[in-house]
Order: sequence, then structure tokens, then C-alpha cells
Amino acid sequence: MLELIIVGAGPAGITAGVYAARKRMDFLVISGDIGGQTAWSGDVENYTGYQFVTGPELAAKFEEHMRRYRIDVREGELVRELSRSQDAVTLTTDKARYEARTAIIASGKRSRELGVPGEKEFKNKGLTYCATCDGPLFSGKDVAVIGGGNSALDATLQLMNIARRVHVINAASALTGDAVMREKAEAAGNVAILNGSSVTQVYGEKMVQGLEISRGGKKERLAVQGIFVEIGLIPNSEFAQGVARNEYGEIKVNSRNETSMEGVFAAGDVTDVPEKQIIIAAGEGSKAALSAFRYLAQHKF
Ligand SMILES: Cc1cc2nc3c(=O)[nH]c(=O)nc-3n(C[C@H](O)[C@H](O)[C@H](O)COP(=O)(O)OP(=O)(O)OC[C@H]3O[C@@H](n4cnc5c(N)ncnc54)[C@H](O)[C@@H]3O)c2cc1C
Repeated sequence: MLELIIVGAGPAGITAGVYAARKRMDFLVISGDIGGQTAWSGDVENYTGYQFVTGPELAAKFEEHMRRYRIDVREGELVRELSRSQDAVTLTTDKARYEARTAIIASGKRSRELGVPGEKEFKNKGLTYCATCDGPLFSGKDVAVIGGGNSALDATLQLMNIARRVHVINAASALTGDAVMREKAEAAGNVAILNGSSVTQVYGEKMVQGLEISRGGKKERLAVQGIFVEIGLIPNSEFAQGVARNEYGEIKVNSRNETSMEGVFAAGDVTDVPEKQIIIAAGEGSKAALSAFRYLAQHKF
């Protein structure tokens, strides 16, 4: 019986881990990976103290900080179910079953899929959801970025320095991301923005050869070797069925990061806290750990 289990090792989970370690709590971290979405971000220019850092660099700094405390991290393990009995939380993963007095859900978000023919077939065969991870593979090639928000623009800004040409396929009538990023993308000579267009099919043979798009009621084909899907994110909250969530699947929390389930706290992008940012996730992670610590101090087990 542990005092705490933290699910996720993105900025929220790692920061919760650092705080829990400093409170000398008996805990472990279970996570699919280390770094979470931060490891996929391009340039991060809004994390206080770092005027400029890349996502992978910041994720490495987070990990280095966590490792200083010799935290028990079960990397590559996924939580499938979370439930509560009288005085414990049970977490079932794809490898084992754990019990703790408290839990912090910091499982973040994952990429939304296009849901069109060819997407599954060409996943990792030219179609990807991570420009930071896979962008360098498309040096000198023609690529398409699907989406028009901040994630799509982040991908575009990275790819325009690597690829020959970047087509931005945006369903809305205008880009919706931050003005600074929009302006950089619009000013680039090798970026073509196709507003009001949506993907209807991905085609190819062994690898992606292009996509079919629908624009103004007409279908057309666009030959590209790489497709970067950046159409938003969905919360990794399916394993927490017994915890109250909002209409987007985000876990509802109060200002102390308490969820509807006793002893279960949540932090970061998986919650309904507005604005999904690294610094917010990290701050929420620290609050969640302190709330779990307080909960343990106030209960006799
Ligand atoms: C392309 C891109 C660019 C971005 N750029 C910026 C930026 O410049 N500045 C900024 O502030 N923010 C940026 N963000 C947003 C920022 O990355 C997120 O707000 C932040 O990472 C959220 O942290 P988190 O810890 O809540 O979740 P995540 O980072 O999503 O981490 C979740 C963790 O939980 C793990 N996990 C998920 N499901 C399970 C499960 N079932 N069992 C176990 N583990 C699980 C994952 O493996 C991961 O380790 C960007 C995001 C993207 C996608």
C-alpha cells in the first residue's frame, strides 16, 4: 500500500513527483513516456526562466530534475483502470495492479485522428502526429500539415526549415493560432495555406504519396511525401470512468485539484482547468502533490 501513485510523467506528473519526493512521500510514477507533449513541442518561448528552449531540451531538464530524487518511475506502463474501495485507490495497468491511499491523474492529452481512409494504413509510413519527432525525416520533401491552430502552426514553423514545401490544410476559413506564429508562417516563401479545405483520403503505395482534399465542393489531389496531423488533442481520461468529467472528457477539478473521487487528484492538460500550457501543468502538478500530502496528513489509515 503506497501513499501515492502519479499517473503520467509530463510537466504535471514530473512536478508532482518532485514535490512528493521533497515531502518524502512513499510513491511511484506510472507513465507511458517521460516528458509527455513537451517532448514533441518545437520552440518553447513561454516557460519562465528560459527565454528560449526547445521542447525536447525542456523535457530533458524536467527528467534530470526528477531523477535527482531517485523516484521510482514505471516507464512504458499504461494505466487501464482506476477505482476506489473504502480507503484505497486501485490502479490496474497493462502489467500489474497497485494500491495507494491517493492518486494524481496527470495523463495529459493525445493527438486527435483524422478518421479518413488511408490514415491507419499509412501511420508511420509518411503520416505522423509529431513534427518534432519525425520532421527531420522529410528534409527537402513536400509535406502537408493538417490543422490551423497552434499545434499546426508549431509544426509548420519547424517543417518550413526542413521540407521543400509545406501545404497547410485548414478546415476553417482562417488560421486560428497565435498571431506571432501565424505571421511567421504566412511570411515564409515555401508555405502554402489552403483555408476552407479538408482531407478526405490519404493515398500511397508502400509509403504516403499524397492526399485527397475537398475545397469549395471540389475534390483535388495533392502530392506529398509527408503528412503531419495536427487537429487537436483529446484527454487521456478513459481509464478514470468513475471520476466526473466534462463534455470534452476532461477531469473536473476544484482549486485544490480534488476530483469527484475521494483521494484522487488531477493536474494538467487532462483536467478542465482552462489553458493548456507547460507552466500551468507544472504549477497544477505541484498543487496536486501538496493536496495529496495534506489529505494523507488529515486522515488516519
Ligand atoms: C506541438 C505542441 C507544441 C506545444 N508548445 C507549447 C509551448 O510552446 N508552450 C507551452 O507552454 N505549451 C506548449 N504545448 C502544450 C504543453 O506541451 C502541454 O500543455 C503540457 O505538456 C501538458 O502537460 P501534462 O503533464 O498535463 O500532460 P502531457 O504532457 O500530455 O503528459 C501526459 C503524460 O501522461 C502519460 N500517460 C498518458 N496516458 C497514460 C496512461 N493511461 N497511463 C500512464 N501514463 C499515461 C503520457 O505518456 C505522458 O507522459 C505544446 C503542445 C504541443 C502538442
